[in-house]
Amino acid sequence: MKKALVLFSGGQDSTACLAWSLQRYDQVETIGFNYGQRHIIELQCRSEVLSALRSKFPAWSEKLGEDRVVDLAWMGQISDCALTRDAEIALRSDGLPNTFVPGRNLIFLLTASAVAYRRGIDRLVTGVCETDYSGYPDCRDDTLKALQVATNLGMNTRLKFETPLMWKNKAETFEMARALGGADLLDIMLENTHTCYLGDRTHKHPWGYGCGTCPACELRANGYAEFLEKTGSI
Ligand code: ZN
Repeated sequence: MKKALVLFSGGQDSTACLAWSLQRYDQVETIGFNYGQRHIIELQCRSEVLSALRSKFPAWSEKLGEDRVVDLAWMGQISDCALTRDAEIALRSDGLPNTFVPGRNLIFLLTASAVAYRRGIDRLVTGVCETDYSGYPDCRDDTLKALQVATNLGMNTRLKFETPLMWKNKAETFEMARALGGADLLDIMLENTHTCYLGDRTHKHPWGYGCGTCPACELRANGYAEFLEKTGSI
């Protein structure tokens, strides 16, 4: 039986990765993290996405296993950035956005690896992406490959880190979602997933909910516009 553990935040990328895994593997578990993020609402969205997937895709529902949220709230104590405290989102002097949480993806992957170890799972699936990443060095393909080696050496395992979105832009992620789950999956992506850094779910746009101006909203809006342009319509 092929098993996978998906790092699932409730955002559009990790939802696409979850669908990708449900099509590929026999049993799929999910893991999310509370790290003191300002957009804590994404944790609520992840349960909504999971129940929507269960009701629209019965075959996937059978494969969906345990879901867990791990408390990493201590990360808010050690990082000083615009995702964990109330500050305006801006570029830092070194060119990185101040939404960068140092070590975030490394800690997520290592934590998920320890859970996978315990659960007898040898695949980790994460939606990190180098193509239109916001300049985050922990989303780079090289970072992931190096961490995979270090993790396996450190735990004496053969875990594989799968990154289906690594070379896709946001428009291609929407295309992938449509290929995997058609209009129903696209509906879930637009209606239930969350990416806005400010946690805004009061403003609805054709591409989903969000403030419309933070970098995460801009990426999503532009990606959806490009997707529509390429495909004509849903
Ligand atoms: Zn936003």
